Amino acid sequence: MTTEFFTKETINDLLPKLKGRITYDVPLKNRSWFKVGGNAEILIHPANTEDLSYILKEIPPEWPYLTIGATSNLLIRDGGIQGITFQLRKGFHEIIPDQYGLIAGAACLDMTIADSAAQLGLSGMEFLSGIPGTIGGAVKMNAGAHGSDLSAILDWAEIVTRDGEVHHFSSVDLQLSYRHSVLPTDAIVTRVRLQGKPGNKNTIYQTMTEIKNQRENSQPIHSRTGGSTFRNPSPTISSYKAWELIDMVKGRGLAFGGAKVSEKHCNFLINTGEATASDLENLGEELRKRILNDFGIQLQWEIKRIGIPYTQKEQ
Ligand SMILES: Cc1cc2nc3c(=O)[nH]c(=O)nc-3n(C[C@H](O)[C@H](O)[C@H](O)COP(=O)(O)OP(=O)(O)OC[C@H]3O[C@@H](n4cnc5c(N)ncnc54)[C@H](O)[C@@H]3O)c2cc1C
Repeated sequence: MTTEFFTKETINDLLPKLKGRITYDVPLKNRSWFKVGGNAEILIHPANTEDLSYILKEIPPEWPYLTIGATSNLLIRDGGIQGITFQLRKGFHEIIPDQYGLIAGAACLDMTIADSAAQLGLSGMEFLSGIPGTIGGAVKMNAGAHGSDLSAILDWAEIVTRDGEVHHFSSVDLQLSYRHSVLPTDAIVTRVRLQGKPGNKNTIYQTMTEIKNQRENSQPIHSRTGGSTFRNPSPTISSYKAWELIDMVKGRGLAFGGAKVSEKHCNFLINTGEATASDLENLGEELRKRILNDFGIQLQWEIKRIGIPYTQKEQ
């Protein structure tokens, strides 16, 4: 335990009623989609919303923390994450059918929710079947595909804020827009209510199969990747999509250390085996630099880069 903020003992003293699990100096590399990144200084899996609320009420306000979901949109830097990392697991997995919708714990995978909705004969959630994250991460990112996104189906999200209070926010409150929400980094989604409409089960399953096949053909979904690397530029800035710009600057297949731009879909970066987070970030920055030079367009990262670089940790 190294930070100026806490020691193992101070945490144990502070949280005598903790029901969840707390571990220290936890390697995240093998848990992450990219299979890169350093350790979480403190990893907490709260037992349930009440437990999370208790933790946030007890820890001093200056202690840093963040939340990770399935890590499918994260690049965890090589120096790891300082402070507390929350990850919701057991206790946040329940799916309860509700009239024309369902209530799901934030740790539920989008794919599981799509499947539950299909079993209930609810349409509108098919697009979730192709997104490999949790529904908590989907709210934060306003995840979307195939012409829909969270804003179309989110009725409310239950969120625990920095002060440990539990709130319900609608998609309007969260200002969901293209891969963006105004959810602050210290607010944690614990449950959502999603709404669908009655549909034909066969048609729903058929749509999900089509989505699966389309993804198999167009994305490197079996690679160590992190989804779309960059946001598409706003149409007022460029009519080109991010992948088209990457292609035009000869980015497809470009490699840096163990990191490579996918040949299959060039807005995806992949770890070919031995990449570091820094290889992946540098490769992304090289693409941004080329696009800025050639087109004057500043691409924005869609992937969230978290943690600290290795060199910074050593200082
Ligand atoms: C192969 C592949 C295909 C993909 N295709 C798509 C796609 O079609 N459409 C799309 O939108 N995305 C896509 N993604 C990206 C990714 O799956 C989504 O952004 C997903 O919603 C992220 O969820 P997660 O649980 O993995 O979140 P993480 O990657 O773990 O985190 C992403 C962000 O959400 C925050 N977060 C996570 N959980 C919570 C929580 N409970 N409360 C508050 N904040 C939280 C994190 O702090 C972080 O800022 C793809 C990724 C991969 C690897």
